[in-house]
Amino acid sequence: MIAADRKLLDAFLKPYRVADGKGFRLAKHDPGDTHGLRSEHKGQAAQLLARGIEWLAEAQEKLYAQDRWGVLLVFQAMDAAGKDSTIKHVMSGVNPQGVHVTSFKAPSSEELDHDFLWRCMKALPERGRIGIFNRSYYEEVLVVRVHREILARQKLPPSLVGRKLWKERCEDIASVERYLARNGYLILKFFLNVSRDEQKKRFLERLDEPEKHWKFEPNDVRERTHWDAYMEAYEDAIRRTAAPHAPWYVVPADAKWFTRLVVAAAIVAGMDRLDLAFPAVDAAVRAEFAECRRLLAGEGGTSRRA
Ligand code: ATP
Ligand code: MG
Repeated sequence: MIAADRKLLDAFLKPYRVADGKGFRLAKHDPGDTHGLRSEHKGQAAQLLARGIEWLAEAQEKLYAQDRWGVLLVFQAMDAAGKDSTIKHVMSGVNPQGVHVTSFKAPSSEELDHDFLWRCMKALPERGRIGIFNRSYYEEVLVVRVHREILARQKLPPSLVGRKLWKERCEDIASVERYLARNGYLILKFFLNVSRDEQKKRFLERLDEPEKHWKFEPNDVRERTHWDAYMEAYEDAIRRTAAPHAPWYVVPADAKWFTRLVVAAAIVAGMDRLDLAFPAVDAAVRAEFAECRRLLAGEGGTSRRA
């Protein structure tokens, strides 16, 4: 990407990127922000998104061919913030062989018999691939923090469950992310920041429209009563785990077209910083090309098997 485009992209992302959590305040982030763009700009936004998607498709081919870097994209959000549809749209151009999405639900009994990172570490992408976590180990300092009864089921030795547990978990997460970054992983974390009012609107739509009934989960409505506790948990987690090598993007999520644009832009900006290129074929192999060309030419016309 040329330097001027790079600058524009960084300026666009600046309000949403949190690479140092010190002093981070979630209340300063407006879920309805659209960077001054209005709904009449939706068409232009869609065009930009399409360009981003195309760029990502090419970058992913190089990522795969080069086989050096891995990309981990973490998505966290309240229900109905649009995680699934954002992932679907932003990744729509990339080769499915190079991307793997893992959705993390309440842990199974086998998972509870291990440390909390175990199931996520098993799902990490290989080098050359993009791994998407639809929810992640961050649930361990979000839902588990809000619902203490979940912690009680985690079979931890009681002597290890103290007042500093959430701080310690965030430290462990930050350490693992630093370790992964040092091993060649680009880590980008997205909090899709939907407002409580917009969530209510989306739940009502799910109730009103029969084709959306399948998406409606009665328990999600009960979860809303814990909204403030979730926001505090998110704020604390972001504060403690944002880092230049594993930044958070707090993405306004009340307008879906804008959410997609920010997420795509952040992935483009992140991958642009990797030195992605198709690997050069070395001279010895290239020397064989001429011989292969001669052999192919010597075969004469192409024949097809019946
Ligand atoms: P959607 O509702 O769009 O299908 P979702 O991510 O909300 O997507 P669900 O199956 O509805 O998927 O919910 C998964 C649930 O699992 C969430 O409520 C989440 O908080 C919970 N969960 C995820 N990880 C953990 C964990 N480590 N411990 C306990 N609960 C967890
Ligand atoms: Mg859900």
